[in-house]
Amino acid sequence: MDKVDCVVIGAGVVGLAIARRLATAGREVVVLEAAEDIGTVTSSRNSEVIHAGIYYKAGSLMARFCVRGKHLLYRYCDEHGIPYRNCGKLIVATSAKETEKLQGIRAHAAANGVDDLELLSGEAARALEPALACDAALLSPSTGIIDSHAYMLSLRGEAEAAGAAFAFHTPLLRAKADAGHIELDAGGEQPMTLACGLLVNAAGLNASMVARMIDGMPLELIPPAYLAKGNYFSCSVRAPFARLIYPVPEPGGLGVHLTLDLAGQARFGPDVEWVDHIDYAVDPARAERFYPAIRKYWPTLPDGALMPAYSGIRPKIVPPAVATQDFLIQGPRDHGVEGLINLFGIESPGLTSSLAIADHVGELAGL
Ligand SMILES: Cc1cc2nc3c(=O)[nH]c(=O)nc-3n(C[C@H](O)[C@H](O)[C@H](O)COP(=O)(O)OP(=O)(O)OC[C@H]3O[C@@H](n4cnc5c(N)ncnc54)[C@H](O)[C@@H]3O)c2cc1C
Repeated sequence: MDKVDCVVIGAGVVGLAIARRLATAGREVVVLEAAEDIGTVTSSRNSEVIHAGIYYKAGSLMARFCVRGKHLLYRYCDEHGIPYRNCGKLIVATSAKETEKLQGIRAHAAANGVDDLELLSGEAARALEPALACDAALLSPSTGIIDSHAYMLSLRGEAEAAGAAFAFHTPLLRAKADAGHIELDAGGEQPMTLACGLLVNAAGLNASMVARMIDGMPLELIPPAYLAKGNYFSCSVRAPFARLIYPVPEPGGLGVHLTLDLAGQARFGPDVEWVDHIDYAVDPARAERFYPAIRKYWPTLPDGALMPAYSGIRPKIVPPAVATQDFLIQGPRDHGVEGLINLFGIESPGLTSSLAIADHVGELAGL
């Protein structure tokens, strides 16, 4: 049986960042990916926003990794020529009640280490974005957007340059933890049996399923998997905004927000639709809920402008009734299986956090 030092399951942005971290530290790395290429699942179905880290619960992994990951990611983009724009975002209050909430959001952000939020009057916000309707706003200057594909290609390139090998069409089928190493079988086009000292489960939506494939992993520590789809609509007219526009969040979600891609094209969403299987089709009827929500801050959105665009699915580990979840990253101290690291629930801000998550996994792996 072939032996390798480290195996990473999944070549999404998180698996890639981990493979790069391990390989550039001199570890031998093989990445097993079920799909035909890197980043074809959730990592190519998101908003490509570099989040500031405003809302996450203070002290949570999401809060810590987002804020640290944001700084690491901007630096990485500068050093590696990855296209990005530090465009900023406005959180807009469109009623007196929402305006009251802005100070609380600012205080919460400051507790997370995001101390650069600026409170703006409606006029000051309109001086930045003349088409905006709002009573007041918070400006988040550290929010940005990134070409996530260029970023993933760069991570892969660095990992390969440091000796990492990638096997595509190669899903993990089963694994067995055995006295300090893990034996695994992968299927697909490049079936293989391997033994490794470190197995990192970065399988995204399949992370719980992959954990159940590992003989020796305590089943009671594997979280359930729920799917929360997020639908996006694009806009047939050019939206007159240079910054990302988010409403004040309501219980249960961030509201219908506007993000931009690097070409300046606006998209609205993602909304939240709990589903029981993976289906990325966007129901055009959902646009009816988007129009009134968007017109609160962009009253001149023309009728018929919204078009179904794409969707992504959040890998949830808590059911709909639970408002928030955190990343769940388990090492041997948590589950008792030597050489195994599981990553569960890596939803947003997983892209922003990817380099910080990779550092954390590196620490768990003894780097
Ligand atoms: C709607 C939406 C919007 C988002 N917006 C943002 C945002 O703006 N900013 C931000 O920071 N984050 C955002 N996120 C979160 C971000 O997209 C994810 O956190 C990130 O892409 C997760 O990467 P990953 O590598 O963990 O998972 P994935 O990208 O899903 O990769 C997992 C990989 O594992 C592979 N795999 C699965 N099973 C197996 C197996 N048995 N064997 C081998 N390989 C396997 C899959 O094929 C896949 O390639 C958003 C997420 C969603 C759903």
